[in-house]
Amino acid sequence: MSKRDYYEVLGVGKQASKEEIKKAYRKLSKKYHPDINKEADAADKFKEVKEAYEILSDDQKRAQYDQFGHVDPNQGFGGGGADFGGFGGFEDIFNTFFGGGGGRRRDPNAPRQGADLQYTMTLKFEDAVFGKETDIEIPREEECDTCDGSGAKPGTKPETCSHCHGTGQLNVEQNTPFGRIVNRRVCNHCNGTGKFIKDKCTTCSGKGKVKKRRSIHVKIPAGIDDGQQLRVTGQGEPGINGGPSGDLYIVFNVRGHDFFERDGDDIFCEMPITFAQSALGDEIEVPTLHGKVKLKVPAGTQTGTKFRLKGKGVPNVRGYGVGDQHIRVKVVTPTNLTEKQKQLLREFADISGQLPDEQTESFFDKVKKAIKGE
Ligand SMILES: [Zn+2]
Ligand SMILES: [Zn+2]
Repeated sequence: MSKRDYYEVLGVGKQASKEEIKKAYRKLSKKYHPDINKEADAADKFKEVKEAYEILSDDQKRAQYDQFGHVDPNQGFGGGGADFGGFGGFEDIFNTFFGGGGGRRRDPNAPRQGADLQYTMTLKFEDAVFGKETDIEIPREEECDTCDGSGAKPGTKPETCSHCHGTGQLNVEQNTPFGRIVNRRVCNHCNGTGKFIKDKCTTCSGKGKVKKRRSIHVKIPAGIDDGQQLRVTGQGEPGINGGPSGDLYIVFNVRGHDFFERDGDDIFCEMPITFAQSALGDEIEVPTLHGKVKLKVPAGTQTGTKFRLKGKGVPNVRGYGVGDQHIRVKVVTPTNLTEKQKQLLREFADISGQLPDEQTESFFDKVKKAIKGE
C-alpha cells in the first residue's frame, strides 16, 4: 500500500507555515480521534494524520521528507521503522496542544473527585409501586483510618518523589531514525502520585485506602420503574487529595407480575367473566394493587370491552398523581357442560334463533367490501 503525501493528508500546501500545519492537525485529529469518531477507518486516518504531523511539524524531518519523500522502514536509516506509538486517551492530545508550557498538565496533588459507583437492585413489582426503605451493602474504597489516607506509617510523612520531583510524570527520550523524540510517561517510581512513601502504613500497604463493605440506607421512592436509576450523592468512592466523593447510582431491575402489567404509571390486566355475567350484567370483584374493587359490568358486555379504574395505578415517581388501572374483559365460553346445562342452552338457542338479520347482513357486507378493497 503506497503512503499518501503528508501535505495531502493534512490538506495543506507545500509552503504551509508551522502555524497552518498545527491548525490543520488540530482539526483533523479531533475529527478522527477514535474516542469521538466511530467510523471503521477513523483509527487509521487518525494514525495517518498523527504521523504526517510528527514529520511536518519538525523542521529537520520536514526538510528530509521534502527531499526524499517517504522513508521505507525496511531500508536506510539502519532499519527499524519509526514507531510513533499508539494514541493515548483524548486528554493526551489536548495536553500536547495546550500543555506546552505546562499550563494544563495534570497536577498529581490537585484535589480530584472520587469515582462513581453503580449498584443494580432487583425489586419486587409491588416494592417498585409503593417504594421501600432498605439497607444495601456496597463494597468500596475508603480512606485508611490508620494513616488518614496518606499511606505513610503514623508519625512519618510521604516524601516528594525524587525521580519526577513531585510532578508524577517523567520525560522519556527515545531514539528514532529521525532523531530524538521525548515522550511524557507516568512516573513508574511513584505511579503518578508524585510522592514516595518510605515507611508504608501496614494497614493499607501504603495505598491510603482500604476496601470496606459499607451499609447504606436507601429510600426507594414509590413509582420507580424498571431501568430507572437513583443517584445517592456522595456515596461513591472517596475523593483524592481532599476532593469530593463520587456518587452512587442505583439501577433498578423490576420483576414482572403474574396478573398485572405496568406501562408507566398505568396498570393493565385482563378479567375473565362468564357468558351469563356478560349477557345479564353483574358486579364483579377486581384485584388492584390497592386492594379489591367492585366493578359493574353492564348487561350485554362484549369480550374485549375496556374499563378504567381511576387512581388505581402506580403513584408517579415525581409526585404527579397516581395512574389508572385498565381492565379488559374476556368472556369465557363454557366447556365441559353438564347434561342439564346443555339442555338449558339448547332451549335458549331455540327461542333465540339466529343473530338478527341486520347484524349478519352488515357483517357480510363488510367482508365483501374488504375483499373488493373498498
Ligand atoms: Zn493506611
Ligand atoms: Zn515519581
